[in-house]
Amino acid sequence: MTASRVLVLNSGSSSVKYQLLDMRDNSRTAAGLVERIGERTSRLKHTPLAAGSGSREWNGPIADHDAALKAVAEELAKDGLGLDSPELAAIGHRVVHGGQTFTRPTVIDDAVLAEIERLIPVAPLHNPANLTGIRTARALRPDLPQVAVFDTAFHTTMPESAARYAIDVETADAHRIRRYGFHGTSHAYVSRATAELLGRAPEEVNVIVLHLGNGASASAVRGGVCVDTSMGLTPLEGLVMGTRSGDTDPAVIFHLARVGKMSIDEIDTLLNKRSGLVGLCGDNDMREIRRRIDEGDARAKLAFDIYVHRLKKYIGAYCAVLGRVDAVAFTAGVGENSAEVRAAAVAGLETLGLAVDDALNAVRGDEPRLISPPDARVAVGVVPTDEELEIAAQTYALVERTN
Ligand code: AMP
Repeated sequence: MTASRVLVLNSGSSSVKYQLLDMRDNSRTAAGLVERIGERTSRLKHTPLAAGSGSREWNGPIADHDAALKAVAEELAKDGLGLDSPELAAIGHRVVHGGQTFTRPTVIDDAVLAEIERLIPVAPLHNPANLTGIRTARALRPDLPQVAVFDTAFHTTMPESAARYAIDVETADAHRIRRYGFHGTSHAYVSRATAELLGRAPEEVNVIVLHLGNGASASAVRGGVCVDTSMGLTPLEGLVMGTRSGDTDPAVIFHLARVGKMSIDEIDTLLNKRSGLVGLCGDNDMREIRRRIDEGDARAKLAFDIYVHRLKKYIGAYCAVLGRVDAVAFTAGVGENSAEVRAAAVAGLETLGLAVDDALNAVRGDEPRLISPPDARVAVGVVPTDEELEIAAQTYALVERTN
């Protein structure tokens, strides 16, 4: 029997998300989530997708990631595909920060673990949790290839002119301060899928990808290669997000510290957790914001307008960066579902060759689709992202190659 399945693990500080995929046909065998790890009210939700049966839920204390992964392994085993299954080819781990070191998916060994650990100062929230997940999985299946797929990797091709901040070079380098970008797995997948939607090779097309979820980022992709992206040293830079401010004058921070007497941690929380849509109007769900706008709520309308204004600025900027744009792709929760955001983001950009067809834009669905008028100079599309499939595919391709 050939091992054709890949388990994708996304380990957060108190959660583990997972999917088991079959790479023979890219189908999903199972998916699930363990949340509130370390609390008394932990919860495991497991959905055996291939079996077609309903989800199973377990509530109770799950002490740590080790216990969480063992519980996941038990659930998978109930479907006949436990961690010891000979059908399992590899485990693919989502790792948020690969710095400048990791430009592609990498088979994990002790040296790779040490390097991910060395990068903790630039990803203090994410890399420790990712490392815990990797160590736990390795302890459970030391013989199985485990691959790290980095959120930053797709952006390592950015030229220095896009990747560097204009601050003192020695200071920046001493602290590894540069623009790394995130959501790279999604930008890679969606830019490729957009080329496919146009029936062209990725090398031939220039694409602006707008990943608009709770976190949001834009990227400029020339011939399959990322040349700019909106997130920077951390995911705080760029677009207006659910709870993050995106771009602000850095002097806002000095002002809040000196005049507002806020601590650095308080400002960090303000800009990352209490800003963006939630800071502007109290809601970070675009559905709720649209509902409030329909009821005449002025704060919700202002939040929507600021969100769209920033988005438009990035679309314009990336048209300039790319010179020639073949397609603009909307993806993630807001990008895939909000026809209003898509229409508003390209409204008035006809001189850049951008327009949406209202009827096409209103169509809902899970498949990649074009929403621009047939004669448009630039194709505008809705291209659903699939980060788990991309992690599984990159993991499987690497394991196949090294076998
Ligand atoms: P993600 O981070 O990609 O899961 O996206 C989550 C966000 O997508 C939510 O916070 C909502 O703002 C947005 N979203 C999800 N479904 C819809 C929808 N039907 N219409 C508008 N926005 C949606």
